[in-house]
Amino acid sequence: MSFIKFLGTAGARFVVMKQLRASGGVWLSVGKTNLYIDPGPGALVRCLNSKPRLEPSTLDGILLTHKHLDHSGDVNVMIEAMTEGGFKKRGVLFAPRDAFEEDSVVLKYVMGYVEKVEVLKEDSEYRIGDVQFSTARRHQHRVETYGMNFEISPHTVSLVTDTKFFPELPNLYRGEIMVIHVVRLKPIGDDPIDHLSMEDVRTIIKKTKPKLTILTHFGMTMIKAKPWVVAAELEKELGLKVIAASDGMKLDLEEV
Ligand SMILES: [Zn+2]
Repeated sequence: MSFIKFLGTAGARFVVMKQLRASGGVWLSVGKTNLYIDPGPGALVRCLNSKPRLEPSTLDGILLTHKHLDHSGDVNVMIEAMTEGGFKKRGVLFAPRDAFEEDSVVLKYVMGYVEKVEVLKEDSEYRIGDVQFSTARRHQHRVETYGMNFEISPHTVSLVTDTKFFPELPNLYRGEIMVIHVVRLKPIGDDPIDHLSMEDVRTIIKKTKPKLTILTHFGMTMIKAKPWVVAAELEKELGLKVIAASDGMKLDLEEV
């Protein structure tokens, strides 16, 4: 069975800091392959408390779309759990170059636990077991950031992670299922870190017309507006299926 499980739907600082939503990121299972994407603060706890429990030692890899804390806070402990305390050298760590450079989010001694490190670059293809994916071009975010197109069956999935909106963005993602990190309800001119708003989501999916759009990674303005209400309004307006992820939500890819 292939599935995506949302172990957190918090985005940006305040929702994470106050844990108004969990910030664990996403577990992706395809065939026999398990990949953890963006293990933010609480990822390990959320895995172990998940029902049924998700066992980090069954992970084949961990992927960081970028180094910001809400995407990487638990990366070290998740690597340790994947490698059974570092005793079993295994797994692949995918992350952009700057996640390892100055101010590395991965501790040096923990780096030694993984079997392989794959540095993410723009417009490049990667494979881990049954999961094949490609990065799109670099996002406009303060640190090196990449979204992905997962060429997996039975449905292709795109992950549109944090970015400032730019005109080419809708052309970069083609998944039948589109997971979009939408921090803001409305655009804000002086956003110091650059995030997508619901207006940007409307522009993207109007053009790409995914079979299913899943909103996640909510900032405070989205939480206050109730993400499920915002999703339902957009669904009605565009006639496209749009849902808001909730903590612990599991999407069976065969059932979409
Ligand atoms: Zn970010």
